[in-house]
Amino acid sequence: MVDVLVIGGGNAALCAALMAREAGASVLLLESAPREWRGGNSQHTRNLRCMHDAPQDVLVEAYPEEEFWQDLLKVTGGITNEHLARLTIRASSSCRPWMRKHGVRFQPPLSGALHVARTNAFFMGGGKALVNAYYRSAEALGVDIRYETPVDSLELDGSRFIAARSGRQRFEARACVLAAGGFESNREWLREAWGQNERGEWPADNFLIRGTRFNQGVLIKHMADAGADMIGDPSQSHCVAIDARAPLYDGGICTRIDCVSLGVVVNRDAERFYDEGEDFWPKRYAIWGRLVAHQPGQIGYSIIDSKAIGRFMPPVFPGEKADTLPELARKLGLPEARFMETLTRYNDSCRDGTFDHTALDDCHTEGLEPPKTHWARRVETPPFYGYALRPGITFTYLGLKTNDRAQVHFGGTASENLFVAGEMMAGNVLGKGYTAGVGMSIGTAFGRIAGTQAARAALKTTEATRAAV
Ligand SMILES: Cc1cc2nc3c(=O)[nH]c(=O)nc-3n(C[C@H](O)[C@H](O)[C@H](O)COP(=O)(O)OP(=O)(O)OC[C@H]3O[C@@H](n4cnc5c(N)ncnc54)[C@H](O)[C@@H]3O)c2cc1C
Repeated sequence: MVDVLVIGGGNAALCAALMAREAGASVLLLESAPREWRGGNSQHTRNLRCMHDAPQDVLVEAYPEEEFWQDLLKVTGGITNEHLARLTIRASSSCRPWMRKHGVRFQPPLSGALHVARTNAFFMGGGKALVNAYYRSAEALGVDIRYETPVDSLELDGSRFIAARSGRQRFEARACVLAAGGFESNREWLREAWGQNERGEWPADNFLIRGTRFNQGVLIKHMADAGADMIGDPSQSHCVAIDARAPLYDGGICTRIDCVSLGVVVNRDAERFYDEGEDFWPKRYAIWGRLVAHQPGQIGYSIIDSKAIGRFMPPVFPGEKADTLPELARKLGLPEARFMETLTRYNDSCRDGTFDHTALDDCHTEGLEPPKTHWARRVETPPFYGYALRPGITFTYLGLKTNDRAQVHFGGTASENLFVAGEMMAGNVLGKGYTAGVGMSIGTAFGRIAGTQAARAALKTTEATRAAV
């Protein structure tokens, strides 16, 4: 029998497996994906948010605990557990030497991401390089890894873990870490969580999944049925407006459309529906998925003119391009007359100011509903460009309640040998909202805790058995 069984193959699972192995436990890791698709959503990441009191290698200036906490408090609207949040924040200040030891390399952000140079440490080679480094290190340390092994259920004795099952295979272990992601890849469950809207549409049918197809939430459902204490609202998720041409799964970060704040966004009826200049794009990009999800047909169109070119990270695929606005409307399949009315009204309401995309400038609209409060410039300089947008789900927040030892709870009782990490428990810290890089901070902090605690629980059982013999 193995000491520690880790279920999942992304950042949280790998952190747990490495820590458990370093603590002297034998470790078996079960990953649902085949080897070439291993690493879950973690393979798509770019950075992790780190607290620091002074400049630290790739991180400039300081990002103290209190500021990190206030940022988290603001985005979650208080739906967070302060004790677990502060534990995550503090852990983010000391995890990088350990990550380096296991082969992860960092780099300063490139232009386009300089606004997070103070708060976020970027992985050289992105999340794919990070998970590859962790797998290499895990293999070198003797962690046993099985791919294409989706766990469908657990055997429990009350709150005690006994074994996991994948089809006909049964894996016994002295302790177990659940790190199998959220349920964002499960389209049926998303459909159920979002329900039907007043137009009779099922919005989730038009969602795209930005990451892995393997996070089906099988174990979240199984654990809820088994009586585990749950946390989070199933309809809450990180949801971004992405290129409507993105693939259903695994489009990753290159499908983002980052020009919203430089122009206007209309729905399929060619009407604007939200203030595109409300705040800096990095602070607002994560609300646009939900905004588009509430529009008819769950589609939006980001419209810019040539003045915007060069001021945002260009998407991988070029948008529709036209020399006149009516031509652009036709190319995008939008009602031309209505589109021209919307654009004319917007252009007429723009008040000249000093355009500055790096500040909350004074270019705004007057007498327009909804207003555009910053960076409002007339869309009038050809060529014009348009990008169709769809809601892109990053990850869901429903998960298992836990404590500072990453223990799974049943009716308020903490399990002695069943632990949880990553997206499966992120809802404890992040009840709603998001601040860039915190997903990896949570997964790294709790993955490491879960691995250490699981090894401790397993080795205690071994000692107790030896003593009894
Ligand atoms: C496009 C994109 C970009 C992102 N960028 C960032 C970023 O820059 N910084 C940041 O902090 N966060 C980012 N995130 C969020 C981040 O990916 C997650 O917060 C983090 O990766 C969660 O790690 P995890 O280990 O819990 O889950 P995952 O990395 O998703 O791992 C879950 C693993 O469990 C496996 N699995 C699922 N079900 C089973 C089962 N039944 N049995 C066995 N295995 C199973 C999956 O195959 C997968 O390997 C991004 C997400 C996406 C989609």
